[in-house]
Amino acid sequence: MSTRQRAYTVLPCLILILSSISFCSADATEKYPWLGIHIMMDTGDKTEQLTDAVKGLAKLGVNTIVAEINYGYEYQSHPNLRSPNAISKKQLKELLAQCRKNNIRLIPQFQCFGHQSWKGTTYPLLIQYPEFGETPGKYPDNKGIYCRSWCPLHPEVNPIVFDLMDELIEVLQADAFHVGMDEIFLIAEDSCPRCKGKGKAEIFAKAINDYHKHIVDKHKIEMLMWGDRLIDSSKINYGSWEASANNTAKAIDLIPRDIIICDWHYELRAAYESVPMFLKKGFRVWPASWLKPEAAKSLIDYSLKQNNPKMVGHLNTTWGAVPIKALSGFEPLRYSTSAFSRQLPSESPSTPDRGTLTP
Ligand SMILES: [Zn+2]
Repeated sequence: MSTRQRAYTVLPCLILILSSISFCSADATEKYPWLGIHIMMDTGDKTEQLTDAVKGLAKLGVNTIVAEINYGYEYQSHPNLRSPNAISKKQLKELLAQCRKNNIRLIPQFQCFGHQSWKGTTYPLLIQYPEFGETPGKYPDNKGIYCRSWCPLHPEVNPIVFDLMDELIEVLQADAFHVGMDEIFLIAEDSCPRCKGKGKAEIFAKAINDYHKHIVDKHKIEMLMWGDRLIDSSKINYGSWEASANNTAKAIDLIPRDIIICDWHYELRAAYESVPMFLKKGFRVWPASWLKPEAAKSLIDYSLKQNNPKMVGHLNTTWGAVPIKALSGFEPLRYSTSAFSRQLPSESPSTPDRGTLTP
């Protein structure tokens, strides 16, 4: 019996039934809270493992999966951009069917702009088109940098990336899309003839707005992104990873408020001030934890204390620290699902006016 189920056993039968209905209606879209798990799912093997795990996750109370696919799909529009052991259409369809059967919303993610390499490995876009990089020809073997970025002002990048997004949205019949955008350190570099001399916040905002036009305006679905580059580290002392010390944070006032901010924090803190900061700006916030149980509990408890319907739930990241088969026993995930089953928000958050920007 799961923690959540145990919590329900103390409630009268009628409440049990009604609660189950609220989580398990045929349409999982826009059901709050969003009890989510983020999975790096860039191979066919991982996709099959996740498909097998869906039922157990649903039993635990998970109702949303963010699947970070990136180049790991057998794209038809640009087969040269597939990464090794890419997921087949059949595998994605089987995962989708299993999610629907278990009332889980499946949100694809494609890391945009940053994270175009990891250690010595450069990902397919900048292998196939090195000229799309923000620092082409610099940093051989990726030495001296964290991750490569593509240039968001290169006119040929977005049409290709949007083709890939379109395929994922179509095959998964997605009603939301996560564009990543965390930890971008190579931005508006002097080595880029298009970006040199431009403001980093303005460049960051332009990229966000370009993706928003495609995802929200064209596809009419929701857009999610990580929040770290929108948090000013000089105002909220998180350091330069989970907040921005590289002048991107002012972009927060230049982007639509209907974007859902995935506000990740993996360390134990007494307060996570970015959660109320994003809420006050009018965004819906999806706080995200990782491995350390005490840190996850602290973030979940702090988020719930905000008592704000725009705080939409909790997202548990995994980053390979827990095997997909063992997800149902992942302590931070068990805590989040049980915490929200004890304290369900009384109303659903309203979607903010699209395109309304802070003066
Ligand atoms: Zn550039």
